[in-house]
Amino acid sequence: MLTWDRLQTLGGISDEPARLKRVFASPGMRTAAAQLFEWMRAARLTVTTDDWGNLFARTPHPDSMPLLVIGSHFDTVPGAGKYDGALGILAAIGALETLSQDEIKHLPFAVEIAAFSDEEGTRFHTTYLGSRAAAGGIEPADLARRDSSGTTLASLIPEKSRQPSPRYTKGKLLAYWEAHIEQGPVLEKLNLPLGIVTAIAGQTRAKIRFTGRAAHAGTCPMDMRHDALAGAAEFVLAAESLARETPDLVATVGCLDIAAPASNVVPAATDLTLDLRHPNDSTRSQSIATLQSTAESIAKKRGLTHAWETVQENSAVACDPAQSRILEAAVAANQKEVPRLSSGAGHDAVAMSKVAPVAMLFVRCRGGVSHHPDEYASPADVAACVETLAEGIRRLARQ
Ligand SMILES: [Zn+2]
Repeated sequence: MLTWDRLQTLGGISDEPARLKRVFASPGMRTAAAQLFEWMRAARLTVTTDDWGNLFARTPHPDSMPLLVIGSHFDTVPGAGKYDGALGILAAIGALETLSQDEIKHLPFAVEIAAFSDEEGTRFHTTYLGSRAAAGGIEPADLARRDSSGTTLASLIPEKSRQPSPRYTKGKLLAYWEAHIEQGPVLEKLNLPLGIVTAIAGQTRAKIRFTGRAAHAGTCPMDMRHDALAGAAEFVLAAESLARETPDLVATVGCLDIAAPASNVVPAATDLTLDLRHPNDSTRSQSIATLQSTAESIAKKRGLTHAWETVQENSAVACDPAQSRILEAAVAANQKEVPRLSSGAGHDAVAMSKVAPVAMLFVRCRGGVSHHPDEYASPADVAACVETLAEGIRRLARQ
């Protein structure tokens, strides 16, 4: 069965009839796991599962051999497309089916496909639960989290596995590879099916509040106002222009909240969020420092006060140059140009980078659309991804 056809089948397995949604430990996830299990077995792989809902499918090599892990996740956001996550798992199965049994037998390493049970974190508002259970990094705070109905994560995991002993530990893996749809428009614009990821961007999330003074919209002269919303608006545009003039920087104000909004009142307080990402951590910190001083000078100029709260900071993850070169050469076998791009979105490779050198392959997706039913990668691009992973394995074996 073609990988693209499997993507359609897997994409039809959902927690809800009207849209694609598969969240951690849900009925849809169990059905999807059973389907993956069947395809992995059909590919002559030895399949094991863990108590976190992950599946691992391994070539028939002794445990003592070096290990290449190729994986991604099979949970989804609500209203998802069929390719985010699923592509990385199914393309890996397809790649092992592309290699002959003889080629597999003579590999100087084992290959294991990891199908991770939760990357999106929809149910418990977490990140990389499945891959962290496999690579270490599950915290007590994760287990205490509750879903919207009050169920704790801990209650879904058998007691003996709540602090999982990691399947993957540092120094044991040759590498971790992950193929994923780009979830952005760059490859489509370049008119190329595949690209190599250089780094997964680090991220800072902050909440910012501008506070001024409420005043009557009719009676307060313009030069006597302390308009919190106007200050926030100036900050939004400052963040946008900093990101526009700094290569690879993206900055987004996604929430803007006026306290007690009324059409005839000058806003007294405005809250906003900032999401800022860059593949280089020092550029990210410099950009944050610049925007903090911008916020301060906007507040000063307008007679406002401002508060800045950093909500979350994640470091960038650099892809391994040697592993990336192997995948790059595999792409180059069928594509005249091999673009290198950074990933603005997080992936399981972030959790796996704690235990292995990581490399990622991006696949063109239509319009850059993701986390939406219109998400689409063509059968030809999916086939190119499968072929490239197979070629990558051959090349790694010759190293
Ligand atoms: Zn994903």
